[in-house]
Amino acid sequence: MNKKTDLGLATHCIHAGDSLDERGGIFTPLYNHSTFGFPDTQSVLDVVEGRVEGSLYTRYGLNPTIRSVEKKLAAIEGGEAAWVFSSGMAAESATFLAHCKSGDHIICIGDVYGGTYDLLDVNLPNLGISTTFILGNEINKLSDSIKSNTRIVFFETPTNPNMEVLDIEGIAAVAKKYGALTVVDSTFATPVNQSPLALGADLVIHSTTKYLGGHGDLTGGVVIGPTELLTPIWTWRKNLGQMMAPEVAYLLARSLRTLVVRVNAHNVSAQILAERLVEHPRINKVNYPGLPDFIGHNIAKHQMKGFGGMISFVIDGNAQETADMVDRLKLFSIAPSLGGVESLVTQPITTTHYNLTPEERAKRGIVDSMVRISVGLEDVADLWADLEQALS
Ligand SMILES: *Cc1c(COP(=O)(O)O)cnc(C)c1O
Repeated sequence: MNKKTDLGLATHCIHAGDSLDERGGIFTPLYNHSTFGFPDTQSVLDVVEGRVEGSLYTRYGLNPTIRSVEKKLAAIEGGEAAWVFSSGMAAESATFLAHCKSGDHIICIGDVYGGTYDLLDVNLPNLGISTTFILGNEINKLSDSIKSNTRIVFFETPTNPNMEVLDIEGIAAVAKKYGALTVVDSTFATPVNQSPLALGADLVIHSTTKYLGGHGDLTGGVVIGPTELLTPIWTWRKNLGQMMAPEVAYLLARSLRTLVVRVNAHNVSAQILAERLVEHPRINKVNYPGLPDFIGHNIAKHQMKGFGGMISFVIDGNAQETADMVDRLKLFSIAPSLGGVESLVTQPITTTHYNLTPEERAKRGIVDSMVRISVGLEDVADLWADLEQALS
């Protein structure tokens, strides 16, 4: 694989981690075995003691299908190594547990996925790990919020549902100065549009359930970065039993082969729809990093190669009128997920941000009439026609 590291992203997506197998298969097959056999005791010890990279037991991640997709993901994200997990939340929780102990502190910037917020706000405090939350427009408070026990600065970019763009390079520089790790959830951007490690982040997390899987048929997560920072995470994954199933790893590798063409197509369609939505008389506001007037556009232009497939917009109407508009859509399925070939729509107050108090929502600009769409790979003319009829 090393000889391939100077290749382009699409080439990595197709070839990294794969090699001809002994029967001539041109990519890694599915090894769904839970354990692997050895010819003699010395061979077992060679693997157990780490002298030989071999297969042993699937929950440990020592499975050829899992190791293959991990090498592909590491190459795609430009990291030294990658660990896959049974979900994005599993990847996040193992990362926090491995790098924080009782008495440690985390800073979470901007809006984050509801499960992440819950983990930081409810679960980790029970283990003595506290989190300070600062809004995305309060970056100037970052230095003052960092304490001597701050281990991790965590954020997503772009964020959900406002598509707020946070400056990875700037935040990572501050965190580094104080000896904290920068961990970025890059799920919305994908490795096609953004490379947090190259911008100074220490670890990158993806929910592979979204764009990396891309077809709404798998649940998984990954953390990518230097081996030194991944090693402590490995034992947490192993002992919490958070391993991705080999069948899922195989499906994920299949999906990653088309990642670049899929994400580039999402980018193109979303840009077209965002520009048309801005012009629509019933729309008050469109949040999309690719719009020149969008507040995060300049940072996005600097740190992103494409602006992604996620758009949110605010319609001129109340909560019920917004729900009615969502209900009139025919091609967009009402669902809280994102990143697949099928277009999805959600009204954040009914799903992803249902549990926030009205004050919390107001602070974040999440209004009743906000709609979030995940632009799929259908013909963009059909998607626009559907949005137009629903808005009229
Ligand atoms: C979906 C999502 C997660 C959680 O991933 P799961 O695979 O559902 O556990 C985390 N972060 C972001 C940004 C997400 O969209």
